[in-house]
Amino acid sequence: MEFLELKNRVETVRQNLASASDGKYPAPKLIAVTKTHPVETILPLSKLDIVDIGENRTQEIVEKRNFLRENFQIHLIGRLQSNKVKYIIDDVCLIHSLDRFSLAEEINRQAQKHNRVMPVLVQVSPAGEEQKGGMPPEEVLPFLREASKLPGLHIRGLMAVMPNIQEETYLSGLFADMRTLFERLRDEAVQGVDMEELSMGMSGDYLLAARHGATMVRVGSALFGPRA
Ligand SMILES: *Cc1c(COP(=O)(O)O)cnc(C)c1O
Repeated sequence: MEFLELKNRVETVRQNLASASDGKYPAPKLIAVTKTHPVETILPLSKLDIVDIGENRTQEIVEKRNFLRENFQIHLIGRLQSNKVKYIIDDVCLIHSLDRFSLAEEINRQAQKHNRVMPVLVQVSPAGEEQKGGMPPEEVLPFLREASKLPGLHIRGLMAVMPNIQEETYLSGLFADMRTLFERLRDEAVQGVDMEELSMGMSGDYLLAARHGATMVRVGSALFGPRA
């Protein structure tokens, strides 16, 4: 893609984000989802002041990291197998997809080995679609109480992947539910947990997500076009 085309697309998304929330919430941070795209496609983003990029596969992070680490912070947004944590623990700034206690334990173990505290988001399944990852909303509070005791990770918020349904009323309801859950858990003030980030919204629905108080949106195809 031509640089100018990419620049236009980034600007469009930024403008949409700035206008979406009507001043009720601050504009969310844009995470550019670069999965499947080669390093040459990604590097120009740094000239557009994009620092945060999202990848969903550990193997791909390992292949690209040496080219990207100087300019970017990598967010892990996809489902994470416990036995892969050790490969990426030094390379990512935030794991969005913590969805089970065994994974929390492995992140804790690897982070301690590498002398760091790993920031994580807890993935919630707002529509009960657990095949997409994420725990049911009612399980999050008990999970926070246990996982917050692990010194190698720092829980900083929630993440959700919405169902592939374009029906706006339905999606709005799910985004609103996520925002309510986020605020309720923030009010619980679980020790060691900082409920600051709500990662939700992708190319098809980032405007709705921004309107409902997302603090981060994860946008891929609206920037780079459809994936192969
Ligand atoms: C691929 C992906 C995105 C971005 O999807 P687009 O529709 O291309 O914007 C966001 N979140 C997750 C978890 C993804 O895997």
